[in-house]
Amino acid sequence: MEFLTQIIDTIYENFFDPKKRVFVGYLLSAILISFLWLFIVKKKTLIECFRKIFDKKIFLSKSAKADYMLFIINIIILMFLSPILITQLAIATFVFEYLHSQTFLMPIDVNLQYLWLIPYFFTISYFVLDDLTKFITHALMHKIPILWEIHKTHHSARTLTPITIFRTHPLEGVIFVIRSALTQGVVIALFFYVYGNNITFITILGANLLSFWFHLLGSNLRHSHIWINYWSWLEKIFISPAQHQIHHSIKKEHHNKNFGVTFAVWDCVFGTLCTSKDNEVSKFGLTKNENKYEHNVLYLYLSPFIGMYKIISKHTLSRFQNTNKQTFTIKN
Ligand SMILES: [Zn+2]
Ligand SMILES: [Zn+2]
Repeated sequence: MEFLTQIIDTIYENFFDPKKRVFVGYLLSAILISFLWLFIVKKKTLIECFRKIFDKKIFLSKSAKADYMLFIINIIILMFLSPILITQLAIATFVFEYLHSQTFLMPIDVNLQYLWLIPYFFTISYFVLDDLTKFITHALMHKIPILWEIHKTHHSARTLTPITIFRTHPLEGVIFVIRSALTQGVVIALFFYVYGNNITFITILGANLLSFWFHLLGSNLRHSHIWINYWSWLEKIFISPAQHQIHHSIKKEHHNKNFGVTFAVWDCVFGTLCTSKDNEVSKFGLTKNENKYEHNVLYLYLSPFIGMYKIISKHTLSRFQNTNKQTFTIKN
């Protein structure tokens, strides 16, 4: 019974805690932005806007139903895994101790006049660094074959809804929890060491100030069927909903593009940016030969292990054949 209460509490927390992406306030703001976009920019009637936003074909699709299942099952799995994951505090303490033993960093004597600036500097630095590590981890999940097997679960979605953010394999969840703990640990320890007790996050309703605005301004529309794009110059600074939809596109030319979450500058720097101009998306998902039983929940959980096993055995086999070839050449 306690277990069930815990699951319900976690689901409730996801929708009613402003620190979470699918907080009901952010979902409502995404609906409002969609309405305004379709009504004002796309000149649709109110009925058309309503039909488009709440399209049954999207929200009741097989793909969306698999997303909902994964959302619940992942909560249960991560409930078991979280106690064994390294906590943010442990990492922060370790980094703090390490920095303490180094001479290249010295605590700064802050002029009292500028003391109020430190929390802003801390909040912005944390947000930017967090976004950078998300970009790097995401790019690695695409580039390293074993990690791609894990990340494929997210890309197997045929329709996108805000709940698609939870369509991830638990192993990806673990990787991102470690990433987050490391980033938070490093930033908190660094600031604490240099600025002492003056560090606090600037928050709105308990959420990081910048995360709050990022989510309120429609972060949930990235996983949606509403194509909202920015001006090209702005898409080189911030990732638009359309750009993340391009990231999910089935077209070959869109593969490995737009790894960024908030900032597009990382993609600009690493040459993986794709703006929405002249880039329409016809379908979401994986290519045909990667896309087997994409909406079967059991398959979604098992396929990364099957894929990883195939890669490892192929690698071992080719190494074995190479060794045999060398032995044969030496003998001859
Ligand atoms: Zn991806
Ligand atoms: Zn996505």
